Amino acid sequence: MGFTNVKKIAEADFPTRWGAFRILGFEGTLAEPRAIREQPAPAGAQPASPIESLVALVMGDIHSAPPVVRIHSQCLTGDVFGSLRCDCRPQLELAMRRIAQEGAGILLYEKQEGRGIGLMAKLKAYELQDQGLDTVEANVELGYAADCREYELPAEVLKLLGVSQVRLITNNPEKVAALESAGIAVVERVSAEVEPKESFERYLRTKVEKMGHIQDSAPDSTPDSAQDSVNGPAQGSAPDPASNLAPDSLTRK
Ligand SMILES: [Zn+2]
Repeated sequence: MGFTNVKKIAEADFPTRWGAFRILGFEGTLAEPRAIREQPAPAGAQPASPIESLVALVMGDIHSAPPVVRIHSQCLTGDVFGSLRCDCRPQLELAMRRIAQEGAGILLYEKQEGRGIGLMAKLKAYELQDQGLDTVEANVELGYAADCREYELPAEVLKLLGVSQVRLITNNPEKVAALESAGIAVVERVSAEVEPKESFERYLRTKVEKMGHIQDSAPDSTPDSAQDSVNGPAQGSAPDPASNLAPDSLTRK
């Protein structure tokens, strides 16, 4: 699936708590409609728009060396309301802080609420999680793939920004692989691990066990099921960023 006609819509100065960025808006048109549901769309669901947008925050000189880059998926509940159901806002702040420390870098903010399923479906998934399902089971129960995100648009935007090599801030090997297959070299993976909180401990464990996320400070008490998972990362080792692909089977359950 590719994007056509990716273009910059606007650019402006953007002072933040962490320092002075430029804010850039991009839009791209999906060549084919995105199929994010495995079952017919539930009543009230919005059809996927063929136009997707992305905001880039850019600081400093991003061309003389591979910059640190974070691809962050929108999380209204975490980013805006400070939800403790997930680690999104601490990860966003970690990325902003890291870019500011380095004096250069790029934050790509994708409008993909709830790993692509949309805000209302995400709230329904929360309801199911309150009844005992984990984040992956809840998405599947609602008829969505476990992770509906795509990373082609961020890759196209990086190319428009003249960046072909990045140091990616992520715990998600699928992001590394997706960027590489879209023609962006990931020369280093920078950990996005945040201080754990009890309120999102189960959420993080699910991401590690079921979605192949890397936990750099793996606890000794790794549950047995992590070893059973086909895509469980080698705990405690420093994996080659591109080698840890999450299997397709995850989204075809
Ligand atoms: Zn979140």
